[in-house]
Amino acid sequence: MSDNLNRHEELTKAEVTRQLQTLGVEKGGVLLVHTSFRAVRPVEGGPEGLIEAIHDVLGPEGTLVMPSWSENDEIPFNPLTTPASPDLGVVADLFWRLPGVLRSDHCFAFAAAGPEALHIVSDELPLPPHIPESPVGRVYELDGQVLLLGVGHEADTTLHLAEIIADVPYHVPRHCTVLQDGKPVRVDYDENDHCCECFKLADDWLRGRCLQSEGCVGHAYSRLARSRDIVKVALEYLAKDPLLFLHPPDSGCEDCDEARKSVESDGNLS
Ligand SMILES: [Zn+2]
Repeated sequence: MSDNLNRHEELTKAEVTRQLQTLGVEKGGVLLVHTSFRAVRPVEGGPEGLIEAIHDVLGPEGTLVMPSWSENDEIPFNPLTTPASPDLGVVADLFWRLPGVLRSDHCFAFAAAGPEALHIVSDELPLPPHIPESPVGRVYELDGQVLLLGVGHEADTTLHLAEIIADVPYHVPRHCTVLQDGKPVRVDYDENDHCCECFKLADDWLRGRCLQSEGCVGHAYSRLARSRDIVKVALEYLAKDPLLFLHPPDSGCEDCDEARKSVESDGNLS
């Protein structure tokens, strides 16, 4: 009973700041954050209070980055008006709207605030979305940290970057819509996509090497690792089995089955 009450006690911003410091968020660093605020709350000031607490830890030399992409493949993206996909949560959708926050000018947008923000969000439309010349690639290049607040590695976009660097053999057809000369134009591309559930494997890989710190932020179980470490361990395992992020054949996962089929149709499967 008291456990239950404690879980719903509002944490002050100062307490959240301390939790982030304890977890290992670096002052002056680049920090990419994926959040489920439902797991974090209640904290003083709500989603904005959480963002302020993160800024307090990073300091003025630090750069805060969040995913900010659109969920709509059919409508051209407008960085000033298009909401962030509901899948990204309320914190991500609030962040890009705050003063001083920059946002990519394409539908696979990230938003960023701080000295490295412009460098992180300035690349043109990346196809597929998480190549090295994309926001998640720039966080990797800048040796940033990845913070998963109340979400697991299944929400960790950096693993898609690792797949691309590893040149995984699966790719499924996707499309988006861009404005060309004021008119919407459909752009088709292939993406290393699947259900992402097996990204959870990264927990054991990182824990086994002491490359991930874990603890509570707000009320959420949270993970912190360096972008480069996430990519490094994923590359190691992908080298042994390029399909290890896909569910086994006929396990009932349509997304992973589609990705597997793309390998077979390429004739790449041994
Ligand atoms: Zn799957």
